[in-house]
Amino acid sequence: MPRPLSTLPKAHLHLHLTGAMRHSTMVELAREHAISLPPALTEDWPPQLSGTDERGWFRFQRLYDVARSVLRRPVDVHRLLREAAEDEAAEGSGWLEIQADPSGFERRFGGITPFLELVLAAAGAAAAATGTGIAVIVAANRTRHPLDARTLARLAAQYAGHGVTGFGLSNDERRGAAGDFAPAFRIAERAGLLLVPHGGELCGPGSVAACLDDLHADRIGHGVHAVEDPALVKRLAAEAVTLEVCPSSNVALGIAAGPEKVPLRQLFEAGVPVALGADDPLLFGPRLTAQYEIARLDHGFSDAELAELARMSVRASAAPPGVRTRLLAGIEAWLSLSDGTSGAPPAAQRTPSRGGRPHAAPALRRCPPPHDARPQTVPALRRCPPSPSAIRYPRSPSPAPVPRDSARPGTRARPQPCYLWGMWRH
Ligand SMILES: [Zn+2]
Repeated sequence: MPRPLSTLPKAHLHLHLTGAMRHSTMVELAREHAISLPPALTEDWPPQLSGTDERGWFRFQRLYDVARSVLRRPVDVHRLLREAAEDEAAEGSGWLEIQADPSGFERRFGGITPFLELVLAAAGAAAAATGTGIAVIVAANRTRHPLDARTLARLAAQYAGHGVTGFGLSNDERRGAAGDFAPAFRIAERAGLLLVPHGGELCGPGSVAACLDDLHADRIGHGVHAVEDPALVKRLAAEAVTLEVCPSSNVALGIAAGPEKVPLRQLFEAGVPVALGADDPLLFGPRLTAQYEIARLDHGFSDAELAELARMSVRASAAPPGVRTRLLAGIEAWLSLSDGTSGAPPAAQRTPSRGGRPHAAPALRRCPPPHDARPQTVPALRRCPPSPSAIRYPRSPSPAPVPRDSARPGTRARPQPCYLWGMWRH
């Protein structure tokens, strides 16, 4: 029998705050707060989505806004983080980096600073209760003005070493060029935060290159379109920039036609570090373990390769040394559990499909041929056409450039993580 993936120790580096909420909790909170949820979030959940055109992306964001609106009180945020940590722990995730955009909550919670402090307190309590360490990534929004991103970067910098370990950039790549956000990323870089923008999800490899060149990304959210540019893939591998690949998200948003079309195998075999993530299970359905199941079932990853995926997630994290050591040792222990029959899954196993609804795996699915015998094809990912309404902001004067150590990884001063089991150490 293949080893159980829920007991494989791992780190989860791509999960958004609202998107981490349990569906049942969203429904309960909506009832408590007398909020009417649309059918796509109730009887038709998980919704059929499309992110490949602006209209579809807008609908996705609208559903996201409705989901976020059920978070009204501090106790709601505490519940979300507590349950997310419980779910992570149940899936073998010993370290979670959760992305939060405080500006989406500032009106309801009295400002971005009180909200971030609330999230940090809730994360600390959840970590202490479950044993899964939690760090926070403050994420700016590409569809808002870059000055807003600078404000968030300054906020993130204030809490660097106090629970915040990274700075991100999310939402629609078609609206808001990466370079417009460079000043914000320089602020975060000076604070020693990990730089983790989304890129190469909706747009092509140029978006990934812009994250590297303009934002000095340490990791990239998604980045799957990089596979279309062999030179870029080589660069990602050489510079050890981790891609946070989220297969269920790609399928749910129509970026990949099916889980087997996500270029996981190509990136992995090219030496690009990959950390699997669930992105927004509240809207897509599958959580973290399901991403490893896709790697096993749809891409033929052996248990040894799945263990390497888990190791890469830990190595790319901001987890403290003690947590990293424990998780890496746990991965070796998982591999030594038994011989396992890594590879061929039982025919009865199911794999998540578009929108998170399961479909039966082909009954006679076999292990893939050895790597060197497999043709190296680039899966056809759906890329978005340039947006006619792309926002172009006037470039504000950049702060003095921050000298960036020439080599990646490891030579740039990484944040010194200090979060261990609910206690921030300074
Ligand atoms: Zn994301």
